[in-house]
Amino acid sequence: MTFDVMTLFPELVETVTSESIIGRARKSGAITVRTHNIRDFSKDKHRKVDDTPYGGGMGMLMAAPPIYDCYLSVKQQQQGSSVCVFMSAQGKVLTQKKAIELSKYDNITILCGHYEGVDRRIVDEIVDEEISIGDYVLTGGEIPACILIDAVSRMCDGVLSADECFENESIYGGVLEYPQYTRPEEFRGKKVPDVLLGGDHKKIEKWRREAALVLTEKNRPDLLGKK
Ligand code: SAM
Repeated sequence: MTFDVMTLFPELVETVTSESIIGRARKSGAITVRTHNIRDFSKDKHRKVDDTPYGGGMGMLMAAPPIYDCYLSVKQQQQGSSVCVFMSAQGKVLTQKKAIELSKYDNITILCGHYEGVDRRIVDEIVDEEISIGDYVLTGGEIPACILIDAVSRMCDGVLSADECFENESIYGGVLEYPQYTRPEEFRGKKVPDVLLGGDHKKIEKWRREAALVLTEKNRPDLLGKK
């Protein structure tokens, strides 16, 4: 999987995706993350990439031409299937299902907006999917892009080791993950549930299934089809 991130702040994306499991996956070649500075495609002598919105209003908009030229350059570097995603508060909210779906592509091109957003015509011209990471507005698309890269990468071969397997985790199986405990056996008067210390794997599995349902019912009844 190759992620091509079109952004005005490549260092932000580079830094976040260079650490921990995603950083390891980049190093091993399980995924590739390439950042592309949209400013490098500005034809303005001051490398300007934004302008005021037609019709008036607050703030500046990222102009279409540098983004389009950046996109053309990215496309030349890609091989195989590809999808172009715009990180946007106006998009459909990212779900695990969408992350799995996106992990099937060979390439994901990600456009990060900034300021008041981008000229709508570039979205209409190049974007296949507009994706939001939640119902709140951030200052830019770089952190959302890193979240998308993380969520999709976990679904790609060679990114997680066997003991980091994603299949038992929250949401993937339709419910939240069961509560987990590690040493010490007692912490501030709170003990690890006896069943987890007993070594009876059938009982442990049953307890975990029930505990997962209780937690899901409490925190995310919508996952169980309840309000
Ligand atoms: N004027 C835009 C609106 O009302 O929808 C918000 C622009 S926001 C300040 C700047 C950029 O941050 C957006 O173009 C988008 O790329 C990114 N962004 C902000 N919130 C986001 C979210 N919830 N999900 C994904 N991207 C987001």
